[in-house]
Amino acid sequence: MSQNAIEILESLGISKNFKIGDMAVRSPIDGLEMARVRSHSNDEIDAMIANAQKAFLEWRKVPAPKRGQLIRILGEKLRTHKAALGRLVTMECGKIYQEGLGEVQEMIDICDFAVGLSRQLYGLTIASERPGHKMVENWHPIGSVGIISAFNFPVAVWAWNTALALVCGDSVIWKPSEKTPLTALACQAILQEALDGFSEAPENLSQILLGNAVAGQKMVEDKRMAVISATGSCAMGRKVAPIVAARFGRSILELGGNNAIIVCPSADLKMALHGIVFGAVGTAGQRCTSTRRLFLHEDIYDTVVASIKDAYGKVSIGDPLNDDTLVGPLIDAMAFSNMEKALALALEQGASVTGGKRIELDKYTDAYYVKPAVVEMPSNIKNVKEETFAPILYIFKYNNLETAILANNDVPQGLSSAIFTNNVREAELFTSALGSDCGIANVNIGTSGAEIGGAFGGEKETGGGRESGSDAWKGYMRRSTSTLNYSSELPLAQGIKFDLGD
Ligand code: NAD
Repeated sequence: MSQNAIEILESLGISKNFKIGDMAVRSPIDGLEMARVRSHSNDEIDAMIANAQKAFLEWRKVPAPKRGQLIRILGEKLRTHKAALGRLVTMECGKIYQEGLGEVQEMIDICDFAVGLSRQLYGLTIASERPGHKMVENWHPIGSVGIISAFNFPVAVWAWNTALALVCGDSVIWKPSEKTPLTALACQAILQEALDGFSEAPENLSQILLGNAVAGQKMVEDKRMAVISATGSCAMGRKVAPIVAARFGRSILELGGNNAIIVCPSADLKMALHGIVFGAVGTAGQRCTSTRRLFLHEDIYDTVVASIKDAYGKVSIGDPLNDDTLVGPLIDAMAFSNMEKALALALEQGASVTGGKRIELDKYTDAYYVKPAVVEMPSNIKNVKEETFAPILYIFKYNNLETAILANNDVPQGLSSAIFTNNVREAELFTSALGSDCGIANVNIGTSGAEIGGAFGGEKETGGGRESGSDAWKGYMRRSTSTLNYSSELPLAQGIKFDLGD
């Protein structure tokens, strides 16, 4: 398949004029403009929210297992369009094609999960303290869900949210990253294929809002949006969270990470090396779960650092559409500038930096391919507290596991973490209450990526939200507790008694 982005969109039935519009869409592969799209006006956003409200009022009447059938069809459509959508993901955000396909597979997996879930939106039955009474918990659709997504997972994050929100009976408005609107239009077209002929689904069940942060904020401010599920930087979350809180809305925040791996002396070093290298260089270090910090025990420090440098020398960097490429480009010039600044700061602090330079300059003047950087930190510096969204791996030496765990936790973010060890005490300590404080704490597997079956998200400045598997669906529903009296008495709570006479 060698279709360009517009041809892929046309093959999905989207016939728009992609030459006009205020938003230029550039491919990080060569930095060139692929298309233009128009952002929505404030009036259009207002109408969209009103339409989402109407759609919600209809959709919530459809039984949940029936709603699941829509997601079953969506999963089938995604299987049909996997190759095309995967390619478009690669073209628009620069991750390698295998990862583009992997992202679409995650969408398919969450659809499968959500179909099963549509028959399992269970509440509890609770023992009442009053005779002749029972208590039950009901989970009901909550309203319209606003999804805000980041450039680096341009389609999977939408699917995680939408598959759950739709089986839960909510309507959806999606504001994709301004850097990746084309994949969003493609997803909407694929969902539309599933909706065509699904007569129970109301119009505007899922809508796309194109625009930048200002457009996103308009949706965030609107009281009619019951849930705002926002994925992106901590800076974005810091703006979004107080706005939603001030109007007593619900937010699900999936923000930045600063993920570390600890390697213990007993570890299988070959496995650890694989986990470290892919975690740090995969997706050009632009995953929220990318490995950014590495704590190596002093006994294995020299061996592991030498193996990492050797492996980095073999990593193939280049066009992400080529089968043999492992590392594609950074998203844009700003991402490279941030990487340069972070490396300059490390040098100032006395670190030793290997790699980090821009390559392929002759071939791509407007694209940013870089050698992933290994940064050996001086022993007086215990941590790096900022997330730089680029392939930089900061390495630290440790001699005591408790101190390494403290250092793992001593950052503002709390998304993903991992330990490589064959010592059960070390593994259990790391995953215990005294261990990693992250939303993800892995043993003998790296920090990057996650299966859809688990609840995904992190603590502290990562935002505390959970998406995807486990009981994350509860974030998309409201809970009502009902007490039902089937006796002929009305015992009041707290033993209160009063007499109204006969
Ligand atoms: P970003 O914060 O620049 O943008 C993310 C989205 O938020 C975009 O759609 C943007 O338009 C929107 N936005 C920004 N400010 C807003 C505001 N005030 N109101 C409403 N919307 C606003 O992030 P990015 O550069 O696209 O993505 C990289 C970041 O996302 C990294 O920090 C990464 O760790 C994080 N991320 C986190 C997860 C996770 O699940 N925890 C997943 C992917 C990416």
